[in-house]
Amino acid sequence: IATFGIQEALKQLGVTEINEGTSTGSKNFSNGEIIESYSPVDGKLIGKVKATTKEDYDKMMQTATVAFKEWKTKPAPLRGEVVRQFGEKLREKKEALGKLVSYEMGKSYQEGLGEVQEMIDICDFAVGLSRQLHGLTMHSERPGHRMYEQYHPLGVVGIISAFNFPVAVWAWNTALAWICGDVCVWKPSEKAPICGIACQNIAAEVFKENGLPEGISNLINGDYKVGEMLTKDTRVPLISATGSTRMGKIVAQEVAARLGKSLLELGGNNAIIVTPDADIKMTVIGAVFGAVGTAGQRCTSTRRLIIHESVYDTVKDAIIKAYGQLKIGNPLDETNHVGPVIDKDAVKMYENALEQVVAEGGNIIVEGGVLSGEGYESGCYVKPAIAEAKPHYKIVQHETFAPVLYLLKYSGDVHNAIAIQNEVAQGLSSAIMTNNLREAEAFLSVQGSDCGIANVNIGTSGAEIGGAFGGEKETGGGRESGSDAWKVYMRRQTNTINYTTELPLAQGIKFDL
Ligand code: NAD
Repeated sequence: IATFGIQEALKQLGVTEINEGTSTGSKNFSNGEIIESYSPVDGKLIGKVKATTKEDYDKMMQTATVAFKEWKTKPAPLRGEVVRQFGEKLREKKEALGKLVSYEMGKSYQEGLGEVQEMIDICDFAVGLSRQLHGLTMHSERPGHRMYEQYHPLGVVGIISAFNFPVAVWAWNTALAWICGDVCVWKPSEKAPICGIACQNIAAEVFKENGLPEGISNLINGDYKVGEMLTKDTRVPLISATGSTRMGKIVAQEVAARLGKSLLELGGNNAIIVTPDADIKMTVIGAVFGAVGTAGQRCTSTRRLIIHESVYDTVKDAIIKAYGQLKIGNPLDETNHVGPVIDKDAVKMYENALEQVVAEGGNIIVEGGVLSGEGYESGCYVKPAIAEAKPHYKIVQHETFAPVLYLLKYSGDVHNAIAIQNEVAQGLSSAIMTNNLREAEAFLSVQGSDCGIANVNIGTSGAEIGGAFGGEKETGGGRESGSDAWKVYMRRQTNTINYTTELPLAQGIKFDL
């Protein structure tokens, strides 16, 4: 249970009435229009942020470029030590930041704390990694030669993030980019700008305490136009963009046009396959949390349940019963399961999806609707809904970023379910619930799930930072976080050294002078 209120949290995070996007320590940096952030929890104004103008952006980029010259020469383990301190600071501010995430974005306080925990975990991971930025050595075909590869820092990394993970996605990128020797410019979602201010303040403190230059961490604010300043900028070799597939298609083209690198983390349309051998109790927990957690606004939220006809009615009844127990309300009250969606546009999208599934022939089995009255004044609270549908419906093929779950039936063997699962454009997270080894292995095999994440006997929602995170097809193909995802933040160089007095050429070519 929280021990202090949102005002105290804002104070602890250094959020003031009007805030700026800054480089570390700089003031009077932003001169653009005022962005107001309203909470979907109670509809109240949280704070104001000044947007970044083109002139502000150019000043910031100069600061970042100068900072990179210094930061890249620090030994990687020393950079790791700074990230360790950043992780410590996050531990101190966990409650305040978790609360702000919940209040500005609308996810439950537990999930807000969970998001900050992910930031702490990626810092710990990055600290260890700072001593393991390994390249390979390989045997040269030429005598007296040594050949190896090494990784160097890339430069200024641009990070564009979505509203639904307003702090963790930044940390996933920035903790790794920092230990790799890069400096970062972050454009958070215009729907959660105060979270950006809070994070930047925490980073600024750490860099200042270590006597490190401004511009290792930079924040810019505004909508897609400010994002475009980054994507079009040839001084930014890597753009890591998280958000909708619509945005990713534009960003990918902008960055490719200047031959920059992009790391894309886009929409999902995640399914759980429920076979005749599924544990029904586990299925219900995984499916319900997956569908209604973060009010259905996770990229890994469960959107489709593909259920075998022999267990269809049992699973359907159990899920309807579980939905009957859901409590919807203020996400800072830990007895509630479901908080609001981000804003009124999201409510409209939810309503449209429910209308569309009915128009296409679907059957609503758990009614939706917008809640009003005491506690629901923001107008952003909706009832999680379930519809029986067919796999080919347009709305089922589309990512509905709201708590709407589609039940789909399959017959025959598991390959029929896998075919349904794979026939959408997105490829982020997938799961199978089964105790049958053959079904589980088929799902994980080359003939199985085509997603970046494939789970057995856990749901689609959420992930641990130790694994590489991301998806295929319209999800964009990027990988972030654990495993070897760090390599995208560095440039690889192959080195060959001749320690003889001869100059033999490769492939035995003779070139006598
Ligand atoms: P969005 O695409 O509307 O916005 C995301 C970010 O992109 C924002 O900061 C926005 O200002 C910026 N942006 C939009 N157009 C741009 C452009 N042309 N140039 C540069 N920047 C631009 O997404 P959203 O509504 O904030 O987030 C929800 C979406 O994000 C969902 O589709 C969800 O699945 C996806 N998402 C994916 C992951 C993942 O890891 N795969 C994680 C979180 C969210």
